[in-house]
Amino acid sequence: MDPQLTIALAGNPNSGKTTAFNALTGSHQHVGNYPGITVEKKEGFIKMPSGRCVRFIDLPGTYSLTAYTQEETVARHVLAQERPDVVIDVLNAGALERNLYLTIQLLELGVPVVLALNMMDEAAKQGMTIDIERLSQRLGFPVMATVARTGEGLPELLKATEAYIETKRGEPWEPLHISYGPDLDPVLRDMEAAIAEAGLLASEYPARWVALKLLEQDEEILTRSRAEAPELAADLERQVDEVARHLRDTLNTWPEAVIADYRYGFISSL
Ligand code: GDP
Ligand code: MG
Repeated sequence: MDPQLTIALAGNPNSGKTTAFNALTGSHQHVGNYPGITVEKKEGFIKMPSGRCVRFIDLPGTYSLTAYTQEETVARHVLAQERPDVVIDVLNAGALERNLYLTIQLLELGVPVVLALNMMDEAAKQGMTIDIERLSQRLGFPVMATVARTGEGLPELLKATEAYIETKRGEPWEPLHISYGPDLDPVLRDMEAAIAEAGLLASEYPARWVALKLLEQDEEILTRSRAEAPELAADLERQVDEVARHLRDTLNTWPEAVIADYRYGFISSL
């Protein structure tokens, strides 16, 4: 079977990703390891409602896409290099706000996203109701309720995903652009422009994303930037140091904390 589409499953640990992956791919899966590390690599193949064959990649569970852990590094490498047609982001519906933190970062990367609001049975037991329609409207892409353990909602999820892929296929990735406030926005804009002009890591990541990662002190992006464009990297690091010093002196905070605050602010506005 020659896969015509690639779909990656992303999500926080324990959101039900593997359960969904197993229910979707059945026995058609292959488990191995990423070269040199202990992170598990799982792939499977399924036939979509339309009959098309799809390659499914189960990404390691992560809370973020910064290279603090092997799992995060693997997840973002796979996204950047394999460039899936869509990412199905599996969320624990009972911990929506925390789970959406990863979603924001997927959107900032630009990959098309569909949300699977999983564990809806648990959420209902807790008395939670979620206006899925409205959330989907706000986000601008499909949000589907699922109970991966029983398979409920999975056929509808596949259908919605396939329809969404049709609207996105062949289109360039469109990274979400959120404001990080009066201190970081001007610096981000300058850094983004310089990164874009130099084409730094351009085949993998949007320029604004690279700038954000540098502000978040992401070691991998820092190391690669220094190797690829030493002068530019030094200049960017100076800008990061300067704004970090300013934030410490005026607000007793630091760029990563401000970035997290604005992401959570964006989430609560949803
Ligand atoms: P992963 O870490 O995201 O791969 O999560 P798993 O697929 O391993 O699931 C974590 C736990 O949640 C397991 O015990 C699953 O059986 C359970 N689980 C998965 N989906 C659901 C669901 O929709 N409802 C409920 N109640 N439990 C679920
Ligand atoms: Mg898992």
